[in-house]
Amino acid sequence: MDINSSRRAKHAMIGAQFRRFSWAMGLAVIMLTSVLLYMQSGLQAGLAALQDDFMPRWQIAQRLQGDAQNVGAKASQLTLAFTLGELQSMHEDLSEQIVALESSLQAVIGQADDADLAQNLVTTASDFHQIADELAEAVRHRVTSPAALPVMDQQRRRERDLARLMGDHSVKLASYSSMLAADINIAFASHRQNLMRRLWLQGLFISLAGIVMGVLIWQQFHLLDHRLIHRIRALEIEMAKTDLDQNLLAKQVEVDEIDAMRNELARLLNRLTDQNAELERLATTDGLTGLTNRRRLFEHLEQEVYRARRYGTALSLILFDIDHFKRINDNWGHAAGDCVLREIAHEAHRLLRKADTAGRYGGEEFVVLLPETDLAEAMLLAHRLNRQISHMVITPEHSSPISVTVSVGVAEIAPDESGEDLIQRADQALYRAKREGRNRVEAAAIPADLDRQKTE
Ligand code: GH3
Ligand code: MG
Ligand code: MG
Repeated sequence: MDINSSRRAKHAMIGAQFRRFSWAMGLAVIMLTSVLLYMQSGLQAGLAALQDDFMPRWQIAQRLQGDAQNVGAKASQLTLAFTLGELQSMHEDLSEQIVALESSLQAVIGQADDADLAQNLVTTASDFHQIADELAEAVRHRVTSPAALPVMDQQRRRERDLARLMGDHSVKLASYSSMLAADINIAFASHRQNLMRRLWLQGLFISLAGIVMGVLIWQQFHLLDHRLIHRIRALEIEMAKTDLDQNLLAKQVEVDEIDAMRNELARLLNRLTDQNAELERLATTDGLTGLTNRRRLFEHLEQEVYRARRYGTALSLILFDIDHFKRINDNWGHAAGDCVLREIAHEAHRLLRKADTAGRYGGEEFVVLLPETDLAEAMLLAHRLNRQISHMVITPEHSSPISVTVSVGVAEIAPDESGEDLIQRADQALYRAKREGRNRVEAAAIPADLDRQKTE
């Protein structure tokens, strides 16, 4: 595994975890839904069985019981008939009930689960049928052939026996049908118990599914909040500080995407800081000599003038110009002139204290800013500068050794004097040095208004 791929593997941690959780959630949802659907269909099937199977059977059993009781009641009424007409109409009623009872019986015999019970029902049905036939025959016989009284008695007794027998059988049938109904009730109860168990299991399963989903969602939330949002916020705060700790950056071990992003941002910030510093340097430095440029020099002067005024400290300024510089350019070329400028700038910089600032004021004119320095000290430095430069021997490429001198003007700031006025007085001193023969140092005159105050 190369360095890049191992870095990538580290970076992929949050992504991988997120994907893993998403897969787990997807799978959990599919599995839970399938199991729930399966359970639900089982419940539905159970309910359908209840509706299609048990209910009709139970209703048929109930109807048989009612029919049997009706027949028993009708048969017992038969013995109460006095006249032939009454007997005939009662028998007709009974026949109708018997027809209904027979149809109920046929329906019930097919439904009975208990074999013995079914056999009993069949036997009772045939007995019943036989008695009904005999009774019908007896009634028909009495209607069609009115007989002598003793025969009549015999006939009525037979009818009564048959009617009682029919009543007995009806009671037996009713008891069978209630046995059947009880059987169905027991089966129904166990079925209902089964359904309730399934319902309970389903409820338990839904609760478990809820817990599993809750844990997965919580994990996702934790991952998002703790590993992502929390750290992005921390990163944001750190970025806002802008001053980046180099040691922290170096020690930071990349763990995942956020850490990698953090490090990249840190590097970017560092690069930006470096580039800003470089831009700042370019904007404030003179390209040829490396000294402070004119713009920065004036800013500096303003700051120092302000400081001197506020704290009542001294501030002096040296302005110097290379003598007959034009000749160097004319004799040795512009490149040699540049070399002389660089060497003199370097020498001036070397002679200065840390707090002093040397800058390029114009073409071959330079300024040295001396905070907390009075005119006497500044004059000493100016003389040293003048002497040192005059002792220099500069040998640019393709040229003979060159010696130069400088003329120097020195001024110390007067109370309430501006930076520009200070430079102007130094310039006047420099002009005097030039006029008086060059290669010399001149102190600036005291400002005119101060001078006037002194004499008054
Ligand atoms: P003086 O003693 O009166 O100062 O005489 P000078 O010749 O030094 O003064 P002058 O102002 O006549 O000439 C200054 C010359 O400096 C003119 C210009 O060509 C040259 N110069 C200005 N800037 C540069 C520069 O960056 N490089 C070079 N090589 N020459 C420059
Ligand atoms: Mg000059
Ligand atoms: Mg000049």
